[in-house]
Amino acid sequence: MSQILQAIRGMNDILPEEAELWEQFEEAVRDWLRSYGYRPIRMPVVEPTPLFARAIGAVTDIVEKEMYSFTDSLNGELLTLRPEGTAGCVRAALQHNLLYDGPKRLWYQGPMFRHERPQKGRYRQFHQIGVEALGYSGPDIDAEMIQMCQRFWDDLGLKNVHLELNSLGQTEERQAHRAALIEYFSSHAALLDADAQRRLHSNPLRILDSKNPAMQDLIEKAPRLLDHLGPDSLRHFESVQVLLKDSGIPYRINPRLVRGLDYYNLTVFEWVTDSLGAQGTVCAGGRYDGLFAQLGGKSQPACGFAMGIERLLMLWQGAGGKAPPQAVDIYVVHQGEQAQRFAFRVAEGLRDNGYSVQLHCGGGNFKAQMKRADNSGAMLAAIIGEDEAAASEVTLKPLRESIEQRRVAYDQLAEAIGELLYEWDDENGGI
Ligand code: ATP
Ligand code: MG
Repeated sequence: MSQILQAIRGMNDILPEEAELWEQFEEAVRDWLRSYGYRPIRMPVVEPTPLFARAIGAVTDIVEKEMYSFTDSLNGELLTLRPEGTAGCVRAALQHNLLYDGPKRLWYQGPMFRHERPQKGRYRQFHQIGVEALGYSGPDIDAEMIQMCQRFWDDLGLKNVHLELNSLGQTEERQAHRAALIEYFSSHAALLDADAQRRLHSNPLRILDSKNPAMQDLIEKAPRLLDHLGPDSLRHFESVQVLLKDSGIPYRINPRLVRGLDYYNLTVFEWVTDSLGAQGTVCAGGRYDGLFAQLGGKSQPACGFAMGIERLLMLWQGAGGKAPPQAVDIYVVHQGEQAQRFAFRVAEGLRDNGYSVQLHCGGGNFKAQMKRADNSGAMLAAIIGEDEAAASEVTLKPLRESIEQRRVAYDQLAEAIGELLYEWDDENGGI
């Protein structure tokens, strides 16, 4: 026999039990975002490669080494599996002129692709919730975005998530800082790793984002961007902090927080936990006022963040997050031709009454069918033999409680089931 084909390394199947947990999580996400006035948007998973090169920046980990890019063999177009969602979202906003009548609050979710070394919390296909406030200049929206994250952690019962905050200022301020950085790192050239040496003149800010432990000491002592901010940037940063203090959200200013993408300015933030080892950032974002113009559109202020679903789910499970039981209410077993036809009617009739029903398919004797009924986790089996079918009746057998089975006329079935399930709920302390 030939070997069974495997999924691509770092791209995971999400099996039913886990997928149910994802659905539960996604429901919480939808409710939360709706409560802040965000509307959904869905973009393609594949975009033209130049979109990411222009949006994210050529000298970044993502564009330099993490993108899944390929040539469309039919027309030679360069395409990329999206590594993140902001570029596509802004492209869509421009293409459809979404801001024609004012700013928009948008969100999306879905798979992102990065060619990284797979490990716990780091995959090649992973999933993000992306939240973008387009056309807002802040700092109010910046603070609200952070505040809404805090509410979500509270909703999920996550305790161990901390806010790190920084300001990247504006282009001219970064230029001044850049010059200081180049001078500093040049004077310590022997301590730079290969990536840093390459970036020294093309994108020295990125060196601050290095994960290389051997460079952390050097990075720690590097000139701070915060010391190069002018009055406007400082005022923006200050206003965000005032609003955060008002909402009682603790934060730590991290002057080395620069984010892995080029498009940010002013406010940047990350939510970090120490419960997930090295992959501790569960949510990251900030302001990106230059991106619309960079993608060829009319300039628009904007702010956004992305959360890593896999990492959040690990945290959530650690905090007791789980999906509610997913079993159907009723499993219908039947034997004989008339019984089968009646069973189809019974099953649909019960669904009309709002019950979830699994109709046994695939034949087999009653004993085998009852075993399936038991394994299904259903509360009740609805048993239909030729006898029942002839009399338009159904035998109800409770599967989770030691209650006598009873035979019920078809037209009283829904009511009888309602009573049975209600009785149990009552015994267990009511609904
Ligand atoms: P990291 O520093 O962990 O590589 P990043 O700065 O590259 O993260 P972003 O591009 O800001 O990450 O993406 C936002 C969030 O998406 C991250 O905070 C993280 O939770 C999640 N994320 C990013 N890359 C991955 C990945 N390869 N696997 C799983 N989750 C990821
Ligand atoms: Mg990364």
